[in-house]
Amino acid sequence: MVSVLVWGLYLSAACAVTVCDASITPRTQVNSQERLVTPQTNTSVNFDDILYPIRGRVFRDWDQRHVCYPAEFYYPRSVDDIVAIVKENNNANAHRQIKVVGAGHSFSPIMIADDRNAIMMSLDKVNKFLSPTMEAMDEYTEGDQLVTVESGMRLWELNENLIHLGLAMENLGAITEQSVAGAFSTSTHGTGGSLGSLATAVRGIKFVSANGTLVSASIDSNPELFHAVVVGLGAIGVVVEVTLKVQPAYKLYRSQTKWDLDELIHELPVLLQRYERLQWYWTPYVSGENAVLLTREATDKAIEPAGMGCWNGTKVVTPTCVDISNRVLSRDGRAGTLFTEMEQFIPIAHCMDALNDFRAFQEMPEVVAAYNPKDKLFTGVRYVAADKHWMSMMYESDICVISFIAWGNTHESGDSNVFKFYAQELERISHRYGGRPHWGKMNWGTRAYFRTVYPRLDDFVQLQRSMDPNGIFMNQYLRERLH
Ligand SMILES: Cc1cc2nc3c(=O)[nH]c(=O)nc-3n(C[C@H](O)[C@H](O)[C@H](O)COP(=O)(O)OP(=O)(O)OC[C@H]3O[C@@H](n4cnc5c(N)ncnc54)[C@H](O)[C@@H]3O)c2cc1C
Repeated sequence: MVSVLVWGLYLSAACAVTVCDASITPRTQVNSQERLVTPQTNTSVNFDDILYPIRGRVFRDWDQRHVCYPAEFYYPRSVDDIVAIVKENNNANAHRQIKVVGAGHSFSPIMIADDRNAIMMSLDKVNKFLSPTMEAMDEYTEGDQLVTVESGMRLWELNENLIHLGLAMENLGAITEQSVAGAFSTSTHGTGGSLGSLATAVRGIKFVSANGTLVSASIDSNPELFHAVVVGLGAIGVVVEVTLKVQPAYKLYRSQTKWDLDELIHELPVLLQRYERLQWYWTPYVSGENAVLLTREATDKAIEPAGMGCWNGTKVVTPTCVDISNRVLSRDGRAGTLFTEMEQFIPIAHCMDALNDFRAFQEMPEVVAAYNPKDKLFTGVRYVAADKHWMSMMYESDICVISFIAWGNTHESGDSNVFKFYAQELERISHRYGGRPHWGKMNWGTRAYFRTVYPRLDDFVQLQRSMDPNGIFMNQYLRERLH
């Protein structure tokens, strides 16, 4: 509890983000079925028919680090609902902040509503699988393996639908709790030197812009707009529909081996040649084999352990297993230890320099002396291929991702002061090499710095301002980094 409080104070002070405004009294949560006073609408859609705004709903993210109190919270059920909500709240009489939340699985306050009169919306009910239908699968040939889904669908739901059709995503991140749109809006990634982030699977999107217009962007028809808006950070509009490139379902063999860190680093060039899907990490201040290499390879072998595969209810069970791809690429994110994370995306040519610098920092005598063995730390490395999305951490650069984690327990995330001590140093190191932080993870970046590493940042801001002159989709986190 204490560290949650400290974390809140730290964020308020350091990031100046209103995560918990004590002057706003939390109100009791109301039953969503309960009939509430509906707002007057000046659109042709009758709010009585479509949805109820929930007043007094406290929003908490996945680990309750970020909390906010939007004046109204909506669960739209259709694109028409979303258009109506946007028009109702952004017109000649009102410019209310509108923040869309996916699964609330960001470490940064990127999805937080911080205006007093803000509204939030969850697209949990805008989550249908649209195409292809099972019947149309006969016509489905290689080369056009595209699926279209509503954007509020969670990644795990997407995977289940895909498996049903004999399809799969090319790559995934560590968990699948995120919504489809939430994941690609921040360039969520897995690992693989020639594999892109989830945003690179997107072929087309539809979003409701600030004036309530439905806008389409696709890689073929309007690539410039497409590459501007896919990694949209929630700042461009409400994404409602997504077309994704997928592939035939496949199985992977997962292997996890312990290494001495120096030996692993020595062997890394060979290992990277051999394994496409490779990641590794080490646990600082643990003696002996404190590094772990994790690889995943395509296989035709039977699921192993038999009848179980890589998941056992809530956890990855064995270091070695065979399973369908999504259960090998991701773990079950519904339970487990909470943690605080930063990721810095370093141009691949500087990967080892940045890693050596961070390791040297961890090994400085005064840093070692300050280390408290009760703190469980993690430094990890993944790889992601370059892409063309303007605000992607991989924009025109092959990347090695250096992650730093302070582990907590099942109730609260890692100690915020310990986290900050290491993470701020990692950020300083990253800046030396032109690194970019994950938009959805902790960072202290500023617009001044981001302009030096995002060549299209000014273009993005110009587009954002032209599409949303009142800035209804912005919040403090975004303004500090973009404006
Ligand atoms: C336990 C854990 C593990 C993680 N593992 C990874 C990992 O392996 N790789 C990685 O890269 N990241 C990882 N992340 C980070 C996470 O993938 C990103 O922060 C992601 O953006 C969260 O998706 P979400 O659906 O929860 O969106 P939210 O966190 O709710 O929102 C993220 C952003 O997307 C916007 N958004 C959401 N839906 C829409 C929409 N329909 N239209 C417009 N904007 C929208 C929000 O406004 C916000 O700006 C992890 C996070 C956690 C908590």
